[in-house]
Amino acid sequence: MLPLVAYADALWGEIIKKRDPICRICGMEPTTEAHHIAHRGNFATRYLLKNGLGLGPICHHQNGHDRPEYFESEIRRVIGDELYNSLMEMSRRIVKRNRLFILDQIENMKRDFALLEIEIPLREGREEGWDSCRDLYQNPPRIYV
Ligand SMILES: [Zn+2]
Repeated sequence: MLPLVAYADALWGEIIKKRDPICRICGMEPTTEAHHIAHRGNFATRYLLKNGLGLGPICHHQNGHDRPEYFESEIRRVIGDELYNSLMEMSRRIVKRNRLFILDQIENMKRDFALLEIEIPLREGREEGWDSCRDLYQNPPRIYV
């Protein structure tokens, strides 16, 4: 069994990678990682799909977290200052990190993902087992908090 937060985190990451199969910054690298625009430590924005960007390893690390000012300017270029600023503001809200909140966030993610009308094929050989988005979406593991 997975802790509820771990399930929600994994679902968010898989959805972001499915939505953004190509690196959102350079448009060249295949996406391997899901980046939280407002820091993942802020639960108010942790599970919002609009707070995520699918990135390749170079844009996420060497040109990303290793160069924070450049990274921010690139993200602002991609999503626009308005969304960037609103995510930063939303992320400062204090939320109750209880079971109900996380369950609510999971439902919101599934709804928002369904609205994207993306098919959920198995990811080709990149990751095994439960990492596949379809597995997570259709057969959520038993969860507890
Ligand atoms: Zn990239």
